[in-house]
Amino acid sequence: MKIGALEAGGTKMVCAVGDEQGRIQVEQSIPTRTPEDTLPQILEFFREHSIEALGIGCFGPIDLRKDSPSYGSITSTPKLAWQGCRIVSYFQDALGIPVGLDTDVNASMLGEAFFGAAQGLTDCLYLTVGTGIGAGILSGGQLIHGLVHPEAGHVLVQKRPEDPYPGHCPYHPSCLEGLACGPALEERWGKPAAELPPEHPAWVWEADYLGQALTGYLMVLSPQRMILGGGVMHQAQLYPLIRRRVRELANGYLKAEELNHLETFIVPPACGGRQGILGCLRLGYAAGQEG
Ligand code: ADP
Ligand code: ZN
Repeated sequence: MKIGALEAGGTKMVCAVGDEQGRIQVEQSIPTRTPEDTLPQILEFFREHSIEALGIGCFGPIDLRKDSPSYGSITSTPKLAWQGCRIVSYFQDALGIPVGLDTDVNASMLGEAFFGAAQGLTDCLYLTVGTGIGAGILSGGQLIHGLVHPEAGHVLVQKRPEDPYPGHCPYHPSCLEGLACGPALEERWGKPAAELPPEHPAWVWEADYLGQALTGYLMVLSPQRMILGGGVMHQAQLYPLIRRRVRELANGYLKAEELNHLETFIVPPACGGRQGILGCLRLGYAAGQEG
């Protein structure tokens, strides 16, 4: 099946054409400006390739309730030009093909489930730690949506008493995203996260906040594995620090052999940055199967 995949991000739109096996034939990246400017460029790309279905993994929040009048639109995003953008019907009407939509992080979760570190698992969490923090969640073999969709980056964490930083989130003074996203690191420490050396105390604090959230996810979701991606996780020293913090906080309460081997339980993505676009292919494939 010839499938279109659109990884819709705040800075760029990655467009690809491929098949359900994850084989990508052609790919193009288009800068994200306004919907009026950017959507027609994406449409032109997909028109050239006569796709049979399209899968979109989109920044959010987005409306995923099929029975809602605003289904398939971007809702309260801080990217104001995109508020209310009906991204699904735009492509559905113009191309006349089935269009699947999910959050960008659920798309990455799906990519890892089919082609990466979550193959063969039914319960898993994919966390991105980048400009924002968000999670895609697979539970009982299904991506979780629920009332809206998970916004697991906004769980509250206990702020370190010595941390003077007020937080980056306009809604919550001590949520994970506000204290641990890339921009929070930069504002707290006065230089881009990528420039903080591996032995900088920033990373112990970062691992504390991420470890607190992961322990919460572990207790609530009972995942078989947790995959941590995104720009900030290029700091490979974070993985052992986070595992240590989760081990401390979980404190031996849960009994499972997997939890004796946190190096295979809290892991980097295995798709090498391709998990998002590969997941979008699978979203498109699923939409095509549904008709
Ligand atoms: P986005 O979240 O916008 O999709 P990324 O996942 O690449 O994009 O995240 C971007 C964030 O990651 C920025 O805040 C940047 O400072 C941070 N970042 C990028 N590379 C690194 C690095 N090597 N080390 C630490 N932080 C990084
Ligand atoms: Zn928040």
